[in-house]
Amino acid sequence: MDNCIFCKIAAKQIPSKAIYEDDDLIAFHDINPAAPVHFLIVPKMHIPTLSDCNEAQQALLGKMMLLAPKLAKEQGCAYVNTGEGRGSGGFKTLFNTGPDGGQEVYHLHLHVIGGPHPWRGQR
Ligand code: 5GP
Ligand code: ZN
Repeated sequence: MDNCIFCKIAAKQIPSKAIYEDDDLIAFHDINPAAPVHFLIVPKMHIPTLSDCNEAQQALLGKMMLLAPKLAKEQGCAYVNTGEGRGSGGFKTLFNTGPDGGQEVYHLHLHVIGGPHPWRGQR
């Protein structure tokens, strides 16, 4: 897609701080982090929103979701189940969809947001 910033990042036409890449996905640090850890998991294929996905994207979406905790661990915000209480650490996973969902970049991406609080706008 011409003029899509995440297509350009995936194609290395503009730089990013990448933390992961394979044939289907790239993950990179958000340029305007909302928390100590904030990265995006992005399919290389241009898909505008989560609402544009169907069964053809089932495996891709599963891959994105399963990559989130692996990369969160590498980035230092793993959720640790201590076996008692709530455990420790952890992160948010977020797809913004459409204007009312707060989406700004219309190329599908999964936010992974974590690290010690406070976060921007949150305790
Ligand atoms: P959305 O609101 O669409 O869910 O989130 C888009 C995210 O992409 C925002 O958090 C924004 O900071 C991030 N972003 C926008 N442009 C760039 C860019 O050029 N590079 C990087 N690394 N992140 C970007
Ligand atoms: Zn795109």
